Amino acid sequence: MPGFFLSKILYSQTKLNKHIAIIGSGFGGLASALRMKKLGFEVTLIERLGSLGGRARVFERKGYKHDAGPTVITAPFLFDELFELFHLKTKDYLDFKPLDPWYRFHFHNGQEFDYRPSIEDTIKEIERFSKEDAVGYRELLKHSERIFNIGYLKLSDKPFSSFWEMVKQIPSLLKLQSYLTVSGLVNKYLKNSFMRKAFSIHPLLVGGDPHTTTSIYALIHYLERKWGVYFCMGGTGKIIQELENLALSNGINIMKNTDVNEIILENNSVTGLRLNNKEIVNFNAVICNADPPTVYAEMIKGKRLKRTFKPEPLIQYSMGLFVLFFGTKKQFPSVAHHTIWMSERFKDLLKDIFQNKKLSEDFSLYLHRPTATDPSFAPQGCDSFYVLCPVPNLLGNINWEIEGPKLKDKIIKELSNTIMPNLEDVVEEVFWMDPNDFKKDYRSMHGAGFSIAPIFSQSAWFRYHNKDPQIKNLYFAAAGSHPGAGIPGVLCSAKIVEKVIKEDFKLN
Ligand SMILES: Cc1cc2nc3c(=O)[nH]c(=O)nc-3n(C[C@H](O)[C@H](O)[C@H](O)COP(=O)(O)OP(=O)(O)OC[C@H]3O[C@@H](n4cnc5c(N)ncnc54)[C@H](O)[C@@H]3O)c2cc1C
Repeated sequence: MPGFFLSKILYSQTKLNKHIAIIGSGFGGLASALRMKKLGFEVTLIERLGSLGGRARVFERKGYKHDAGPTVITAPFLFDELFELFHLKTKDYLDFKPLDPWYRFHFHNGQEFDYRPSIEDTIKEIERFSKEDAVGYRELLKHSERIFNIGYLKLSDKPFSSFWEMVKQIPSLLKLQSYLTVSGLVNKYLKNSFMRKAFSIHPLLVGGDPHTTTSIYALIHYLERKWGVYFCMGGTGKIIQELENLALSNGINIMKNTDVNEIILENNSVTGLRLNNKEIVNFNAVICNADPPTVYAEMIKGKRLKRTFKPEPLIQYSMGLFVLFFGTKKQFPSVAHHTIWMSERFKDLLKDIFQNKKLSEDFSLYLHRPTATDPSFAPQGCDSFYVLCPVPNLLGNINWEIEGPKLKDKIIKELSNTIMPNLEDVVEEVFWMDPNDFKKDYRSMHGAGFSIAPIFSQSAWFRYHNKDPQIKNLYFAAAGSHPGAGIPGVLCSAKIVEKVIKEDFKLN
């Protein structure tokens, strides 16, 4: 691979003689590491787990492969940017397949709705539910594009280090009705209850209740239309593997099975990190890909400087996730690659999850069937699945030792009764992650699936900043920091950190 050699030569010409650490190897961490390497830093990426990727790690059981977290790839050009840093082309390493349908919705009454790559095909699907909403959908898309032009093009790469930057955006945010919630906005344009549900789900993909998430997140409609919805052959784990190869080939040090216990401070600067083997390693700067609330509560010890975020009781966290992984000894070809299986209740179910924090009798699910696109995920003639069920985070008082096995049985039974007949007879290699696992494995505060929730008062300037306002060399590129969760969000977070570090280290 001549590109690797070329990039090594360029790297040695720009070496800065400064050492930077990245805590955590999620997409935000890996992207930060690559960007920092390109700037000329010596880079050490530290990950507490035995493999890289964070929520995007991979599980394998008896021939069944599962991406543990993200599966829907949007805005793939953000990966091009990472390969291009080293004069490489993504297409030589990764194969992104466009999907059709993007998602199949299965409603409680058995009706199905395919959300498809072409607007015309989507409109035909909407017309089966409501002619009026077919018109409304076009208007919703136009509104989403207007939000995208501000929210994505102007805000997603801004560091928001001063409140003034936020104030400057207020007139446009008001004009776009950002005070509305996503479902408030969708309901303005769509009247059919099924369509309202289907087009409101996007905040759930980044950890928010559509009934409380700011309508800025309705930009995802247009983002999907602009760049499409893809599956990476080999899975999201294949992207992680290729980014790891890219990091190693370019001299990034990777430490696995290494937990950062403490960020060591002296005179408002980070001087180094204390690792779980008690070793202290000195660094000139640190980027946290770890969950910001955990970083502040557990990794910065001793007397804190001024508070940098709301007090803990006021922070709203995303929901928890119960993720059920299994294989099937036969295939279910009628199940689409991405299926959203919805219960009758929507608003009240989400209220139980987000506000009441109680485990309801009913649930809504997202089903991933990678074998619909890539047979390598399961033995021949079999299917691999994961089912994601939003549940309360650990602020709800749920005993997962007891409730986990019960929920597993209920989900398998419901799927067996609806879109996967006789699933109970062919299911095998079943295991799951509950919010306790998110806390234990990823050190996610309260076991939240996506860090803090994307409500208005926790977005942009109000979210964890990409640079600590008081500690001069501590940065954040993570789902809990601006702009937020989801692969595009954390990849943009790393871009912002690069901008800020360039300024701080005078690398422009
Ligand atoms: C089940 C699920 C499905 C999802 N589906 C999608 C999807 O389809 N599309 C999409 O775009 N997004 C999706 N998301 C959201 C997306 O996966 C996340 O927002 C994103 O991957 C988070 O990346 P991150 O860079 O913040 O790091 P994370 O993935 O959160 O990784 C942080 C890393 O830091 C490590 N760490 C923490 N503390 C320490 C420490 N002290 N020392 C060392 N290491 C530490 C953790 O072990 C972890 O590896 C999904 C998320 C989940 C959970």
